[in-house]
Parts: sequence; structure tokens; C-alpha cells
Amino acid sequence: MKQLEERIRHDGTVKPGNVLKVDAFLNHQCDVALFDAMGAEWARLFAGRQIDKILTIEASGIGIACLAARHFGDVPVVFAKKTQSINLDGDQYVSSIYSFTKQREYPVIVAKRFLHAGDHVLLIDDFLAKGNALHGLIDICQHAGAKVEGIGIAIEKGFQEGGRKLREEGYDLKSLAIVEGMDPETGEIRFAESE
Ligand code: 5GP
Repeated sequence: MKQLEERIRHDGTVKPGNVLKVDAFLNHQCDVALFDAMGAEWARLFAGRQIDKILTIEASGIGIACLAARHFGDVPVVFAKKTQSINLDGDQYVSSIYSFTKQREYPVIVAKRFLHAGDHVLLIDDFLAKGNALHGLIDICQHAGAKVEGIGIAIEKGFQEGGRKLREEGYDLKSLAIVEGMDPETGEIRFAESE
């Protein structure tokens, strides 16, 4: 998606350790018009798929998932929580994820009453690196008996293995921007061709 690539080039910064910082528009300050355009693009890419729920992870996934839902007939958006709280009552699906940016394990939790057997789910997240976060969500869908219809990612780091693994596992994965390489010295960011 050219609009997203241009924004990453303009406002993204390359940090040491293969980290791309996009907090000016994606995961701290939010460009809602851009989120809306991203939602429209996912709707185009997943046209023909039956999607009746969107599942994401707090916090960065929530905004993009909510705008995306407007383009999928206002389906409900469920976000997995990363911490237990007294407000999280009832039975839960719990999986564990290793975080690339935080370098530690954390739980992902979804209340059983919001995800059901037979749900047709679109997974949405801001970044795909090694695929750990998405595998946590997939694990939760499998436990619930929900079907993963597709995976929509804003920025895939194509030089890390997550995207290749998920495509090999047969998932319909659409990333709006695929970063092929980035250089922390020069700040240069190279993209793969998008659909
Ligand atoms: P994965 O689980 O695929 O290794 O990493 C995905 C998660 O890690 C995303 O939800 C995102 O929060 C975070 N992440 C991975 N790489 C980056 C990055 O380069 N920049 C930022 N801002 N977040 C990242």
C-alpha cells in the first residue's frame, strides 16, 4: 500500500536491533484517516471471505482493528488482553507470547464469551516480525474452535521469519507494507512489492 509505505519513509525511524519506530502515526500518535484507508485496503484484499469478527492484541492493534471493522460490515472487534484483572471474569482462553520488543514472555487472554466455535475471524496487528504474537492469537482461535479466515498486518518485516512461516502454514496473510531491509546508519528503508 503506497500511502503507508510513503508514511513509513517520511515519519518512520530505524532503530538498532531491527526495530522500526512508527509511533508518529501508528502506535502512539494515531493517524485515523490513514487507519481508515488501511481498513479499506484490507477489505479489498479479503473480499469474498466470510469475516464475522476481528481479533487483535492490545494496545497497538485496537485502533487499526476498529477502523478496519467499519469496512467489514461493522463486525465486533475483540482484543486480547495482556494482563489479568478483576474485570476479566469468567472462563478465559490464555496463551503465552514471547515479545520481540520487550524481550520477555507475556500472556494473552480472551474471555470465552467473546470468541466462539464457528466464528470466522480476521486477525489484525500492527507488526509482524517473528510471528510470536500471531501464533498466540491463532492458538486462542484453535482452542475456541474459531476459524482464522485471514491475517491482516500493517507492517511486515520481511527479513524476519514470521511471514514465511505463517504462509507456509497455509494462512491467508496480507501485509500492507513489507519491509525488505532497513539500515540504522542511513535510515534507508526498502520495501517489497505489495499486492
Ligand atoms: P512478533 O511476535 O511477530 O515477533 O512481533 C510482533 C509484535 O512485536 C507486534 O505486535 C509489535 O508490537 C512488536 N514489534 C515487532 N517488531 C517491531 C518493530 O520493528 N517496531 C515496533 N514498533 N514494534 C515491533
